[in-house]
Amino acid sequence: MANKPFDIPNNGDDIAFAPEDETLVSKCASCGGNLVFNPSTFSLRCEHCGNIVEIRHRMASEIDFAKLVDAQSAWNGETRVFECNSCGARQVISRKNMSPVCAFCGTANVVALDSIVGLKPNAVLPFTIDGKNAQEVYARWARSKFFSPRKFKKQVRAEKLVGHYFPAFTFDSDTVTTYVGELGEYYYTTYTDSEGHVHTQQHTRWFPISGTFNRSFNDIFVQATAPNTQVTLKKISPFDTDYAQEYTDNYLYGFSASQNERSGLECWNEARGVMEKNVRRGILGTYSYDVVGYLRTNMQCFDITFKYVLLPVYIGHSTYRKKLYNFYMNGQNGRIVGKSPKSVAKILSLIFGGLAVVGGIVAALLLI
Ligand SMILES: [Zn+2]
Ligand SMILES: [Zn+2]
Repeated sequence: MANKPFDIPNNGDDIAFAPEDETLVSKCASCGGNLVFNPSTFSLRCEHCGNIVEIRHRMASEIDFAKLVDAQSAWNGETRVFECNSCGARQVISRKNMSPVCAFCGTANVVALDSIVGLKPNAVLPFTIDGKNAQEVYARWARSKFFSPRKFKKQVRAEKLVGHYFPAFTFDSDTVTTYVGELGEYYYTTYTDSEGHVHTQQHTRWFPISGTFNRSFNDIFVQATAPNTQVTLKKISPFDTDYAQEYTDNYLYGFSASQNERSGLECWNEARGVMEKNVRRGILGTYSYDVVGYLRTNMQCFDITFKYVLLPVYIGHSTYRKKLYNFYMNGQNGRIVGKSPKSVAKILSLIFGGLAVVGGIVAALLLI
């Protein structure tokens, strides 16, 4: 369904590309309308006249760990932080977006803050599902809900559908771990008691282990958002980080983004913890044992690199009987997490239908 960035036709060098870096265009040369990133053509498209402006895509590269704590890496300049007066959400929006809307509640009641924008992304997973497709995917999902009222299924439509990017890190590292420990193997003996009963006893034979263990890690994924958002994003995972493109402001036209709510170092520590656990499993996997006495490890990381990547998510809601039902959709694969209305009549009919079946079985048994 969704096309991947490298599937786009190779747009040769004879085509005029949108200029890069400081001179990024955001207005249509023909009519002055707003240019927005279009997921179905992977180009910028004028909202007003449909004029297409090609943009360059490059696969994102890893950057050195030192940049993680480098103040030069701040995402200032082309973006600003806005706060929503209705729901309090903060988001990063291109300075060229003159009419920002809150991605979370859909109101235009947002104000610019003099806040630090956070770390500048070096990678982006572009949306591969466009707004029209997202509507269809959502409608299919909502109609597939067994308990949804029929009336809701008939008129289902996502309102205030917006494309929003959430930040995450992926880390690569080589690791060398020295370890010492003690593992045990069970063995059994039998004895006969004074009354002639035979008993089996379990014993443990302990043996020491030590050594060095090497392992390389690629794209350990850590979310940079607050915990409740992490839960939501986990439900619509995976995001295919293999197709990360080098970040340019172009991908932000027509979309908004969240700042990192966790620092790069905090995220690195989580990634390191994941690596450490994996290394422990790896070490234990090289032995045959029944029980671990102890295992002390000392893991060193080398050649640490990372990508700070934006993940594409559609946020929207639908209304049924004046109640809002929010949803989040993965902008790459269309996976959805969200709420949909439930028909009380359908739930009751299922319960009573079930009771009727049970009643029928009981009646049949009584008749035998
Ligand atoms: Zn135009
Ligand atoms: Zn809001």
